[in-house]
Amino acid sequence: MKKHNFYAGPSILPAYTIENTAKGILELEGAGLSVMEISHRSKEFMAIMEESLSLIKELLDVPQGYHVLFLGGGASMQFCMVPYNLMQKKAAYLNTGSWASKALKEAGFFGEAVEVASSKDKNFSYIPKGYELPADADYFHITTNNTIYGTEISEDLDVPMTLVADMSSDIFSRPMDVSKYGIIYGGAQKNLAPSGLAFVIIREDILGKVDRPIPTMLDYRTHIEKGSMFNTPPVVPIFAALQTLKWLKENGGMSAMQKINVEKAALLYDEINRNPLFKCTVEDEADRSLMNICFIMTDEYKELEADFLAFAGSRGMVGIKGHRSVGGFRASTYNALAKESVVALVETMKEFEKK
Ligand SMILES: *Cc1c(COP(=O)(O)O)cnc(C)c1O
Repeated sequence: MKKHNFYAGPSILPAYTIENTAKGILELEGAGLSVMEISHRSKEFMAIMEESLSLIKELLDVPQGYHVLFLGGGASMQFCMVPYNLMQKKAAYLNTGSWASKALKEAGFFGEAVEVASSKDKNFSYIPKGYELPADADYFHITTNNTIYGTEISEDLDVPMTLVADMSSDIFSRPMDVSKYGIIYGGAQKNLAPSGLAFVIIREDILGKVDRPIPTMLDYRTHIEKGSMFNTPPVVPIFAALQTLKWLKENGGMSAMQKINVEKAALLYDEINRNPLFKCTVEDEADRSLMNICFIMTDEYKELEADFLAFAGSRGMVGIKGHRSVGGFRASTYNALAKESVVALVETMKEFEKK
């Protein structure tokens, strides 16, 4: 039986990406060798790197003055690279979950990391509003999509300082205004490629303003200067990312992705609202994620949770168990997840209700 893959990360990738990556691992067209066994400085790999970076610029309409980088170390390495490179004295952080908390903790190693607001009081089930930013902060850091809790900041904020965003789990899910951000970063394994790769979109003029020395590998300027080739980059994840980027372009780019993502999420949220067995953990509709949809059993039916998981499993649903810090269920509906899989989950919820 074909499985419906709702894993939060690593997570579903387009069949196009998996098939073409598999082919390239066997033999890269024109090279007569596997993509894993050619030099990263070969003309074949240089072309892969260039095309990937330029497709990111094209798909997200990245303005002049920005660079796109591929780095190792995942999103977690960016938690430290951001303050290392940008924080002279003080930085502001919005605490919307455990990834945001981890980013905040790393910033504390470099200066005064101010938590401007937190939704911890309600287990991160909402996006804080009405907070004030310290005027002297060097930047403001947000996590646009909170993968674990199913909340999302789905518009590009206007703030009077450099805006830095961890977009690990909602990059490429909607059209966006890159010019609002100083840095956008994320791990590739949610909506782009296999793990082991991070993407960074960075505005060059925010760099070079801190006094501290920065080790070469952790200095964004190194990677800008060397075109993400200062050291050997993760070649297979980059090759896979290229396939996903081509797939995104062929399938209509960011507006087409947003349209289908909105449709998929509406199907599932509507069923959660309708079905008396289930309820959303995120109450405010405006804060609900399009990518990770979190729900639990209503109090009356609490004891049926394990039964529903088993029932959904028997219907081919994989990865819908909620994160341990939220409980219940989480369906991740990334770009590559077909609408049919969401329809199948909705059907499963309806059948379980009848049972
Ligand atoms: C998964 C995730 C991370 C961690 O990514 P790594 O690549 O494992 O470091 C960070 N932030 C968010 C929002 C995530 O979803």
